[in-house]
Amino acid sequence: MQATEVLREKEAVSKAGRTVSGIVNSIETLEGGGFLVRRPFPKASFSEFDPFLLLDEMGPMEVAPGQAKGAPDHPHRGFETVTYLLSGDMEHKDSRGHAGRLRAGDVQWMTAGAGVVHSEMPSREFMRAGGRMHGFQLWVNLPQRDKMMKPRYQEISSSQIPRATSADGLVRVRVIAGEAMDQKAVIETRTPIIYLHYRIEPGGVATQQVPDAYQAFAYVVEGGGLFGAEGESAGDGQMVMFTQDGGEVRIENPPDAKETLEMLFIAGVPLNEPVARYGPFVMNTDDEIRQAIEDYQLGRMGAINS
Ligand code: FE
Repeated sequence: MQATEVLREKEAVSKAGRTVSGIVNSIETLEGGGFLVRRPFPKASFSEFDPFLLLDEMGPMEVAPGQAKGAPDHPHRGFETVTYLLSGDMEHKDSRGHAGRLRAGDVQWMTAGAGVVHSEMPSREFMRAGGRMHGFQLWVNLPQRDKMMKPRYQEISSSQIPRATSADGLVRVRVIAGEAMDQKAVIETRTPIIYLHYRIEPGGVATQQVPDAYQAFAYVVEGGGLFGAEGESAGDGQMVMFTQDGGEVRIENPPDAKETLEMLFIAGVPLNEPVARYGPFVMNTDDEIRQAIEDYQLGRMGAINS
């Protein structure tokens, strides 16, 4: 091939959407009452991906009877926690008298706002019988104007989550936030967010539309694939970040792949505000963090069952 042809081909490729700007590996760490998570961020070298503050993959793991662990009473202020369960059974309680339950495929989108104290624990049945545990928690930052809003829950059962399958049957998507394959999410977000769960069979290609203002990444849950216009490869446990341009993102599971490519595709408009974070509190200034700690210690965020 002539050099000019190579150049022309490269140009054509770059017009076919966003390219990969970086790939990061997850670390393994213990969370809550001692359950293992895979975490692409935050870590020492990479604290956030504006507007996202954290992504944890819980499991997948087989839990023996009596061994299930959760996250007992703890506070949050200033952001949202999004829990998406693929298997398992969890119970949720908070200081405002709210209680809920999450089973396979369900989503809880909790806007902590001014503050809640909550617990996220395995259900009594799951604790007794054990079983397979697999899920995700994503932390979405709130803009300054919403950090002290009244807490709000959106609990969406698996059957209410819009889904779509491509014409060739090789690409399936569940639409938790935003839009994909002509399906619109039922969950409302405070700032524009896309949260999708894709399953792509070998030979399948997903082309996800992403407005220019969004930062976007994919997190590979299982298998592997080719990402972005230049087809960079990434696999299981890796987070793939895309350049902030180009309108769409192409993701392919190559025809010779042995496994389904399962991934989360997450994007949002950056807040571009200062981030002050301390454990479960994420505000804009250190003073607001001190205030959050004080409010929690003085019981102003309440307590469960009080
Ligand atoms: Fe929590």
